[in-house]
Amino acid sequence: MKDRVYNFAAGPSMLADEVLNELHDEFFNYNGSGMAVMEMSHRSKEYMEIFNEAKGRLRRIMEIPEEYEIFFMHGGATGQFAAVPMNLMKKKKADYIITGNFSKKAAQEASKYGEVNIIYDGKENNYSHIPSADELSFSDDIDYVHLCANNTIYGTEWKTFPDTGDIPLVVDMSSDILSRKIDVKEFGLIYAGAQKNIGIAGIAVVIIRKDLISDHDPKTPQVMAYDLTLKNDSMLNTPPTYPIYVLGKVLKWIEEIGGIKEIEERNIAKAKLLYDYLDHQSFYIPHAEKGSRSLMNVTFTTPSEDMDAAFAKKATEQGLCNLKGHRLVGGIRASIYNAMPIEGVEKLISFMEEFAKENA
Ligand SMILES: *Cc1c(COP(=O)(O)O)cnc(C)c1O
Repeated sequence: MKDRVYNFAAGPSMLADEVLNELHDEFFNYNGSGMAVMEMSHRSKEYMEIFNEAKGRLRRIMEIPEEYEIFFMHGGATGQFAAVPMNLMKKKKADYIITGNFSKKAAQEASKYGEVNIIYDGKENNYSHIPSADELSFSDDIDYVHLCANNTIYGTEWKTFPDTGDIPLVVDMSSDILSRKIDVKEFGLIYAGAQKNIGIAGIAVVIIRKDLISDHDPKTPQVMAYDLTLKNDSMLNTPPTYPIYVLGKVLKWIEEIGGIKEIEERNIAKAKLLYDYLDHQSFYIPHAEKGSRSLMNVTFTTPSEDMDAAFAKKATEQGLCNLKGHRLVGGIRASIYNAMPIEGVEKLISFMEEFAKENA
């Protein structure tokens, strides 16, 4: 394959050409330092600038208020499935809302550290639905409520978030962070693995309200303790230096194209094209309920499993890659994160029309 493809992978996923080009230009000799970024000491002046710039950009773009801290941590989003209960479960009780595979995994991990109440589980509708406020009631005396903002595998997404009052709301935003405007103040803690929408594998971004940070339990591994992460400004040990640098480049790209407003408009336009097409044909069957549809991961099936496989194979031949659905749901999944240009979605729709005509 000589040209670059449209990569619809759910994660790790595509990066904008502008980002890749800058990484390429700076790869061998960063800013006249004579070194690649991955060869630099994390304590060097040069690297500290990269680190602080990435943090500053994230705060600006997401309008993160002063009463929140930003951490860059190891262990991906899965690390946070454990870090959240280890640090926040003081009363040893939390509510979890299960809207897909990752929220289930988060709940399972948390149950090692305290009592986990599953207050909603969407398995009866095969996770095609996001609950509304009247489907939820929170337990008494809990440390937090946890949910997953965008269900990467099933293709559903919370449009608005439940009002948990004084109870901190903890949200896994791995697959939709920076895809749309959110009000950080609605949350006690936001975490995200970077490799879907804001960079490459190797770091988790954590945005936490300062009053939720307290002395860690002596059994908590140092690298998982929020108080130590704060005290050492995410450098208790060597941080994932290159992934933080890439994050900074992605954030720079977002600012240069017009920030979150522009990104959100683009994402709405891309998703609308694809869902409008799906709603005006009868060959493909969309998975997510209309009101619960994700802007990031669009899931559907063809009339048969064999045809799903043929679809993904044929699409790949035309430079539309990684459209095979997750093994848990099967079918097709088009992940159209921030970096996917609208041309990729247009090309996908043309392919879908053609494939439907040939196979109807
Ligand atoms: C991919 C994903 C995860 C897992 O992320 P890792 O960084 O691989 O641990 C967790 N939650 C959501 C919503 C995801 O999309």
